[in-house]
Amino acid sequence: MPTYTTEQIRNVVLLSHSGAGKTSLSEAILFTTGTINRLGKVTEGSTTSDYEPEETKRKISISLSLLPCFWQETKLNLVDTPGYADFVGEVKAGLRIAEAAIVVICAASGVEIGTRQVWNFIEQAKLPRLIFVNKMDRENADFQRVLKEIRARFGNRCVALQFPMGAQSQFKGVIDLLSQKAYMGTDAKESDIPEEFKAEAASMREKLIEAVVEQDDALTTKYLEGGEISDEEIRKVLRQSVLTGKLVPVLAGSALQNAGTAALLNVICKLLPSPKEVGTLTAKTPAGAETPLEPQDKGPLAALVFKTNADPYVGRLTYFRVYSGTMESNSQIWNANKNGVERIGQLFMLRGKTQEPQPRLVAGDIGAVAKLAVTVTGDTLCSKEKPLILPAIQFPSPIFSMAVQPKTKNDLDKMGSALPRLIEEDRTLSVRKEPDTGETLLSGVGETHVEVAVEKMQRKFGAEVKLETPQVPYKETITTTAQSEYKHKKQTGGHGQYGHVVLELEPLPKGSGCEFTERVVGGSVPKNYIPSVEKGVNEAVHQGGLAGFPVVDVKITLVDGSFHAVDSSDIAFKIAASHAVRKGMTQANPVLLEPIMNLQVTVPDSLTGDIISDLNTRRARVQGMIPEDGINVIEAEIPLAEAQHYATVLKSLTQGQGTYTLQFVRYEEVPTHVTQKIIAEREKLREKAKD
Ligand code: GDP
Repeated sequence: MPTYTTEQIRNVVLLSHSGAGKTSLSEAILFTTGTINRLGKVTEGSTTSDYEPEETKRKISISLSLLPCFWQETKLNLVDTPGYADFVGEVKAGLRIAEAAIVVICAASGVEIGTRQVWNFIEQAKLPRLIFVNKMDRENADFQRVLKEIRARFGNRCVALQFPMGAQSQFKGVIDLLSQKAYMGTDAKESDIPEEFKAEAASMREKLIEAVVEQDDALTTKYLEGGEISDEEIRKVLRQSVLTGKLVPVLAGSALQNAGTAALLNVICKLLPSPKEVGTLTAKTPAGAETPLEPQDKGPLAALVFKTNADPYVGRLTYFRVYSGTMESNSQIWNANKNGVERIGQLFMLRGKTQEPQPRLVAGDIGAVAKLAVTVTGDTLCSKEKPLILPAIQFPSPIFSMAVQPKTKNDLDKMGSALPRLIEEDRTLSVRKEPDTGETLLSGVGETHVEVAVEKMQRKFGAEVKLETPQVPYKETITTTAQSEYKHKKQTGGHGQYGHVVLELEPLPKGSGCEFTERVVGGSVPKNYIPSVEKGVNEAVHQGGLAGFPVVDVKITLVDGSFHAVDSSDIAFKIAASHAVRKGMTQANPVLLEPIMNLQVTVPDSLTGDIISDLNTRRARVQGMIPEDGINVIEAEIPLAEAQHYATVLKSLTQGQGTYTLQFVRYEEVPTHVTQKIIAEREKLREKAKD
């Protein structure tokens, strides 16, 4: 294995609209660099990157894959990311650990919704980037048309550095405009530019040179004065402009035919930055003081954990990126977030599912280690002498919830231990128990995300569960006062039962919960039975009256009653109190309350009308709009019952261009016509449960 330094590393993340060919391109790169000796295919589920069963089944990438390889003097850590919007958490992690990005665009479909989304992510992460126009062999592939689209959308800073010879069935390879060489066929044989492409190559080179020259004042003057500009000068300014994001080279090829891959690799090595070139980083001490950190192997150790993978056989696998210092195999380190020691065993370089042992990993490199005890995603590994915390990865919040129901008692136990491990592996998942409905809710970014999480839980931990739409945690309350009397009296042979109470029910302000007091005069209910009355009241409050939902915001006062010296008992008073509450509820104009959520939808301007008319069918109240640079943030309040599937709704309304957040605000009365429907459905459920 070659040894390499921080300067020789390139960490590059691949991003695209789903299906543009990232996984196929990664495979072609691994093949071209001699890392693998057979080119796997997405269609056959045989790529190095997508190896998890959930990925091969759906033919999409679900998790980020690390694909390290060596090209000339460079170690390239390629990071393949999912294009599917539900797995954006993995994309965020990929962006965080890379110094540069490659945006893959399909030569037939051009700039798509997902392309624009990932472009925005790269802008936010401020990464230098390349564009690779893939699938040049496909029908309808048209490089010039797509280049025009790219420039219209992302600006004239996108310039062709390479271009394809022919297209579709006539696609032969690529021409590099700087070296002025042609790379033909799958073995990328370097040759002179064929006669038929010379004129086009000359005119495109001219455009490239002009774009580069414009970036440098001295070079511009020289150019305008007709001076000779060397390739060396062009390369230097081009590289500088790529690093600062002022120029974005556009390349072309076909991952499937492995054409253009070697030319792409050369550009990655020559134009993209090493971790060293990113310069000083800022970490924090546990006390919060900012500390500058140089990306060098001799510095203090600081490595960020960007992913953990819970595996029932291998144990937990922790993926990290070293930002400073050197991580050694078989060493002891410190987790600054958990204030705990971790034993580092054998370090690995991961490639898809294969693990290659490494003696050490230097600043800038990416690797993994098994069986850490306390470390989770987001933690910083460092030395105990110099504890450091690196900035965390900003993961999106889980907003789409499903109720998970174990299929059997055995599954319940397995689910109990598997769910925390899933959450630990994926920071865009969360789990909680909804106290009112008793359901376990698993939340993620979207429906597919939650489904995949459940499939993983089944495969890795053997926990079989069903997914259901969660019950809405409705509550009941009253709107007027009422007095309710109930006498529980039974004569069964010997000892009878006697409990008699008079209760007063009155509404309390929202959010006050339920209160029980007593105002009994003259011992009509003896003091020793009052705790039983309270128990009965609490039971009824919990079980509800109108439709069996918990009661809130009601004050219940025991005002009167009677007892029997022989037949009265705790249980009799409890039963009487329960009945009295239920009876009282029906007399006091009961209503249902439902959770109201604050919904913020971010969509392109052009879709605002569609989103608002859809919201109007969902009992939502639009409260405002903040337009911003072609994007609109719509703020609305919406009942939870109408928002449970919003992830799926928004995806289909906007073809994945919209995002949203959802937060609980308060409980509000359910309109009468909706209440009737809810009660009827509840009745149906009860009937079904009886059968
Ligand atoms: P990803 O979602 O961006 O990772 O895209 P994939 O690599 O999974 O590719 C999506 C589909 O496009 C698969 O069916 C590939 O076989 C196909 N594909 C990828 N690259 C090319 C290419 O260069 N030419 C053609 N014709 N098809 C390609």
